[in-house]
Amino acid sequence: MRACYPGSFDPPTLGHDDIIRRAHGMVDELIIAIGRHPGKDPLLSVEQRLAVLQECYRDLPNVRIVAYDGTTVHFARDIGAQVLIRGLRSYADFESERGLAEVNRANGFDTLFLLASPAHTTISSSLVRQVLAAGLALNDLVAEPVAKALQHSLGHPAP
Ligand code: ADP
Repeated sequence: MRACYPGSFDPPTLGHDDIIRRAHGMVDELIIAIGRHPGKDPLLSVEQRLAVLQECYRDLPNVRIVAYDGTTVHFARDIGAQVLIRGLRSYADFESERGLAEVNRANGFDTLFLLASPAHTTISSSLVRQVLAAGLALNDLVAEPVAKALQHSLGHPAP
């Protein structure tokens, strides 16, 4: 089975990492799919996200990272995926994900949801953006390659 884990990953967090490390063992191949959202002002460019995710998952041979434009189900069909993966942190996530999942199911793709681990339920890309803007430590929020890329994007390379 080939699964597609779509998202913005701007930036990738330890919450995403937890989902990826749990999901990849359940499927033959896991495609992390970075959605391009023209018009959105990204923190990390799509190319930077591709590069850090590739660095993070070098140890997982069945994980591939790609970027895509357009509709997730069209992309998932193009790459031959059978299922979508998403993470759920809260009831609010559930509420926003269920409509999307229904539409995707009507278009041929069921979604497998993994519950966020308790240590990661409060982590989001937007929290990371706020912590970064405040100049606080990113240690428990993102993996080291991501922290380095973020410091770099601010013009403060880590020592
Ligand atoms: P999107 O803009 O598509 O929501 P995100 O990068 O914010 O993209 O999230 C991608 C997926 O990862 C979503 O299913 C989201 O619920 C899940 N996710 C985000 N953060 C966490 C976390 N801390 N724990 C588990 N799942 C998460």
